[in-house]
This record gives sequence, C-alpha cells and structure tokens, in this order.
Amino acid sequence: MVLAELGRRITCAIRKMNNVTIIDEKSLNECLNEITRALLQSDVSFPLVKNMQTNIKNIVNLQDLAAGHNKRKIIEQAIFSELCQMLDPGKSVFTPKKTKPSVVMFVGLQGAGKTTTCTKYAYHHQKKGFKPALVCADTFRAGAFDQLKQNATKAKIPFYGSYTESDPVKIAVEGVDRFKKENCDLIIVDTSGRHKQEASLFEEMRQVAEATKPDLVIFVMDSSIGQAAFDQAQAFKQSVAVGAVIITKMDGHAKGGGALSAVAATKSPVIFIGTGEHMDEFDVFEAKTFVSRLLG
Ligand code: GDP
Repeated sequence: MVLAELGRRITCAIRKMNNVTIIDEKSLNECLNEITRALLQSDVSFPLVKNMQTNIKNIVNLQDLAAGHNKRKIIEQAIFSELCQMLDPGKSVFTPKKTKPSVVMFVGLQGAGKTTTCTKYAYHHQKKGFKPALVCADTFRAGAFDQLKQNATKAKIPFYGSYTESDPVKIAVEGVDRFKKENCDLIIVDTSGRHKQEASLFEEMRQVAEATKPDLVIFVMDSSIGQAAFDQAQAFKQSVAVGAVIITKMDGHAKGGGALSAVAATKSPVIFIGTGEHMDEFDVFEAKTFVSRLLG
C-alpha cells in the first residue's frame, strides 16, 4: 500500500468513527481495527501495530471520560501521538559539527541506495558549509568506486578509493586518515552491501567500524522491502551500532511501514528520506510533519 493510501485509510477510519452519534467501545474498536489493517498492509510489523492499539486504548479510556469531554478530539490526538511515537525512539542522534572532524559510516544491503545516499548526505552538509569527503570502502561490488567517484566529482566533493586494494578496512582507514589531515570535517565511509543479510557482510562491517571508530553509523534501507524491514534493520543493528536510519526511494511505491519498523528495530530515528535518484532529492525527516502529511 503506498503511503498516501495508508494516510487516506487512517483518515477515513477516524472520519467514520466521527460520523457515529455516540462514540462507544464498538465504534472505537472498529476505527482501531481499520487502522491496524491499514498499517499491517503497509508493512508495519505486527507487534508494533498491536502495541499501538493497546496504547491508544489505554489513553482513551472511554468509561473514565466524563460526558462533555471531547472524545473525538482525544482519540484523534492519541492516534496522532502514537504514530509520532512509533517514529520517535526518544533518543537524540549524533549531528556533525564543523569544529571537529566526524566520521559517518553508511551500511545497508546492496541496491538499498547507500552510495547514492552517501553523496546526497555529503552534498546536503556541503551546502550548510561543511567540508565533506567520501571514502569508498566497498570493494565487493564491481563499479562501486566508479559510481562514488562520478557522484563525488559532480558535487565537487573529495573522494578516496582504490581499484586494486581488496581490503575494505585498509581503504577505510587510509581514507579517513587522509581526510582528517586535509581538515575535512565530515568524512563519510561507504561500505559494501550484499544481496542478502550474510555473515561475511556483517563481519566486514564490524571490522570497518572497529578500525574507523565512526561517530555515527547510518543504516540505509529501501522503502519498498516490505515486511522484511523489521528483521533486516534489526540484523544490522545487532552487528554495528546503528545510530540513525535513512529510508530511500520514497518517491516510488513507498510504504510508510518500512520507516516505522526500522525505527522500532534499530531504536534510532529516521533522519532523512531519499525521494529520487538526483543529488538534491533528499529531505530532512521530521516525524510530526511526516504524520501530519500522512493524515492529510
Ligand atoms: P547501493 O548498492 O546500496 O550502494 O545502492 P545505489 O546507491 O547504487 O542505488 C541503487 C539504485 O537505487 C540506483 O539506481 C540509484 O539511482 C537508486 N536510488 C537510490 N536512492 C534512490 C531514491 O531515493 N529514489 C529513487 N527513485 N532511486 C534511488
């Protein structure tokens, strides 16, 4: 279910409940069941949806609400805040500073949009006055370095990589050292992906993280991966200290559920979303705005 459709169904469920004369247990349950169905069909994981339903019922205790209370408003606010809550792990994310060089490492499966997103992230910060640099520690995918080089050149961002060195840890360390010496304040390390979650990928990620000691690890996830989102995000989180999530391809048949599940699995916030293949098709993610837009 595409994101707009999810929003429409949630809004529709609320409206339907608002149309009944008296809001009772039955109409509230119908509304929540419809929202549950819509979220599940948007790939939000089942435990997460169940938890949300329970929380709303706890907030909206119909018996305890004296007559005169605006039940509709209370229910609507509870739904809004629960959706925001699902997107907010309540943890602040590391933000790069211009006064001290930061290392940010990108991880994710092959094809998730890691390399593209690294450049978008660098370009975003360059526009804000940072001096970013890109390191290609992806020695697994043929053509990865060329792709990063091409993107970096277009954005006029310095880059580092190798056509001959096969050890990603060595490249990552060399790149980070070089750009620290060159006074770059945001050093972005692109790592290898794999087609699926594999032990070798996770081992490599761990080694690169160990060697470069990143200030932030960003997990890049394709928004169209469906119900696999929760498990995939959790597998990455268990291997490296993921601190933030970027969801890509939100311009396509994007499912809102992926974002919700990734936050729950990594206990980290979504910081940006990718909305196209171009460098500037990249938006800062803000939970309240996202939910407001979702609910129209
Ligand atoms: P990687 O293997 O994870 O490094 O993935 P790439 O950066 O090579 O991206 C895989 C494909 O997804 C490329 O064709 C990108 O142009 C495309 N892509 C990446 N991000 C987005 C996005 O936000 N929207 C769209 N439509 N395509 C994207």
